[in-house]
Amino acid sequence: MVESPADHDVLKIIVLPWVTSGHMIPMVDAARLFAMHGADVTIITTPANALTFQKSVDRDFNSGRLIRTHTLKFPAAEVGVPEGVENFNNTSPEMTSKVYLGVSMLREPTQQLIEDLRPDCLITDMFYPWAVDVADKLGIPRLIFQGPGSFGLSAMHSIKQYEPFKSVTSDTETFPLPGLPHKVEMTRLQIPKWVREPNGYTQLMGRVKDSERRSYGSLVNSFYDFEGPYEEHYRKATGQRVWSIGPVSVWVNQDAADKVGRGQDLVAEDQNSWLNWLNSKEKNSVLYVSFGSMAKFPSAQLLEIAHGLEASGHSFIWVVRKVDGDDDVDVWLPDFEKKMKENNKGFIIRNWAPQLLILDHPAIGGLLNHSGWNSVLEGATAGLPMITWPLYAEHFYNERLVLDVLKIGVPVGVKEWKNLHEVGELVRRDAIAKAIKLLMGSGEEAEVMRKKAKELGVGAKKGYSGWRFFSYQFDSSD
Ligand code: UDP
Repeated sequence: MVESPADHDVLKIIVLPWVTSGHMIPMVDAARLFAMHGADVTIITTPANALTFQKSVDRDFNSGRLIRTHTLKFPAAEVGVPEGVENFNNTSPEMTSKVYLGVSMLREPTQQLIEDLRPDCLITDMFYPWAVDVADKLGIPRLIFQGPGSFGLSAMHSIKQYEPFKSVTSDTETFPLPGLPHKVEMTRLQIPKWVREPNGYTQLMGRVKDSERRSYGSLVNSFYDFEGPYEEHYRKATGQRVWSIGPVSVWVNQDAADKVGRGQDLVAEDQNSWLNWLNSKEKNSVLYVSFGSMAKFPSAQLLEIAHGLEASGHSFIWVVRKVDGDDDVDVWLPDFEKKMKENNKGFIIRNWAPQLLILDHPAIGGLLNHSGWNSVLEGATAGLPMITWPLYAEHFYNERLVLDVLKIGVPVGVKEWKNLHEVGELVRRDAIAKAIKLLMGSGEEAEVMRKKAKELGVGAKKGYSGWRFFSYQFDSSD
């Protein structure tokens, strides 16, 4: 017999994550957090995606928490992708639209499952705008788990509302983002192309925003000390309920097994060697270099990074992911790797690294990353300053938060927003080395950034700002 909401006291939540690591990882962390706070949680996903987090969910379940995964078969054969390809990570541009089609085909069975499970609350990724209709039909609240942070959301809102990029005469002239609590300036080239030149994605984002307005509220993976003024700003600017419930990674990934397995069902091949290598390094002396879960650079850019790292003179751990079929990398990377090993300057991890575990290591002194929201948040949570190298999505907004508001970073100097699979202008080795020397050096500017980042790291862990959400009673009086 299916239980009705009135039959139980425990809040039944369904969590529906989007199928990219950058969205799924924090949302699974959040789902585990809900269960940790006593909710009964069902995560809906497909089998290959479930594999990337199932062990953590099982561990939680076995320790008495009410959490489980419900999988729906991905229509791989129907859309023409190999079995097991169920998300946008490591997906070629040709396969992306097929996976997207597969995800769309799952809409109906997902809706049916939600109706059968009869939750009290539906928490979905922003990319399921239809979820608000299902919630309306069931008479339950739908909350959006936002991909970006409150600053990014506020910046996007400002750009949409005021279109300040239309008042400048060139692509490189700066303009202020109206209405934000701080002075923030950008150029037209840094704004996503789908905003400047509307296309199909612009329409999708329009639907996402409409469904946000009709939803009960938004959950943001952030914390008050980090971007409290922007949480408040976004709430006021949109008139919507907004809660920061992060950094979600901190509160659920308490043991090393969670951190190692987070986001991939792989134990990094060289687990002990990178750890031993980091253990041999002085405190704060190593730069962690990673560009998130999706970005891949062509060989020419990877080569510039290699030279930049070497020329900086600082030690580094670099997570390298090559473009499929780009064999040039295999010509020079092994030699570079060997040289770095011999002079004890650098350690290379291929494809995927246990990022949380590495960032927590005392030898790490800073990051070079693509300003992906999770990486920015995880870096700051670890109390680390960073070099910004924004690429796509809302990275250029995140860069402004890091540089202008938090003042914990150094830009590598990327000028133009690109789509995920587009190749940007080459960032030269000199610019890379210069930014690293500044960030990892002992100059006053770096010391100030380090101090600020450290304070943020303390703020991230000192008290859980998500209690505001977890102590909230769903009703219409708020
Ligand atoms: N990540 C990881 N190991 C890797 C690459 C990424 O654990 O080698 C995790 C990282 O900790 C973060 C997420 O994947 O939680 C990436 O999200 P982010 O927003 O930084 O970038 P995206 O992948 O969405 O571009």
